[in-house]
Amino acid sequence: MVAKCGFCGGTGTKMIVLEPYGAPRRLGAVACGKCGAVLGVADLPDAGAMLHHQAERLEGLRHHIEVLERQVGALSREIERIETHLTRHHGAP
Ligand SMILES: [Zn+2]
Repeated sequence: MVAKCGFCGGTGTKMIVLEPYGAPRRLGAVACGKCGAVLGVADLPDAGAMLHHQAERLEGLRHHIEVLERQVGALSREIERIETHLTRHHGAP
C-alpha cells in the first residue's frame, strides 16, 4: 500500500526519528519523503529495554562459562590423575 501525503500529495515515505520536547524517549515516525510531513508515529525499539535484556543474557552466559571452566578444570585434574596412575603402574610410554 502506498501512503499519500495529505499536504503535498506526494507518495514517497521515509522513517524519521522525532525527539519531542518532554517525551521520555525518541519516537519513530513515517514522514512524507517529499515535504517531510509526519504521516504517522511508529514505536522505535526501546533501546534501554533491549540493552537490559542483552545484559541479562550476558550475565547468564558468564555463569555458564564459569561452570564450564570448573568442569574443564576438574576433567584435566582427573586426566592428570589417571596419567600419573598409569605411569606409576606401567612405566612411561
Ligand atoms: Zn508531503
